[in-house]
Amino acid sequence: MAEAVLVSACLLGLCTRYDGSHARRREVFDALGARTAVAVCPEQLGGMATPRPRVEIRGGDGADVLDGRAAAVDEEGRDVTALMLRGAFQTLGLARISSAREALLKERSPSCGVVAVARGAGERSGRGVAAALLERNGIRLKGFS
Ligand code: SF4
Repeated sequence: MAEAVLVSACLLGLCTRYDGSHARRREVFDALGARTAVAVCPEQLGGMATPRPRVEIRGGDGADVLDGRAAAVDEEGRDVTALMLRGAFQTLGLARISSAREALLKERSPSCGVVAVARGAGERSGRGVAAALLERNGIRLKGFS
């Protein structure tokens, strides 16, 4: 059986982004090669609707959210930390079920960002919540802008 790789669902062309759009990238399919994509959207897996208010991490990055030092807040001011954490753990569960050792993730997302997460109109360095949890569990990460 082909090796499984977790892939941010929006990068595969699924309309899972907060605004109902996708972020399909040809480079992702090139990187995937003959391996099997396991599409994951941590925010949907956490129970968030699509479309949904945009989320940003306040007080740190995804690793800080995992450690209880930062919160995820949506643009309407709701604390969605619990949903983001649930989605991250659901994503990790899918990695384990599929034996995936690598994840191809959407850059700048508060869930999936690998080297940067969106912050207001800009961004800050750091990982998204799901990306940080996957990394802590030995999954290799590769980000796509
Ligand atoms: Fe894409 Fe990840 Fe955002 Fe879902 S949470 S829309 S997979 S970047």
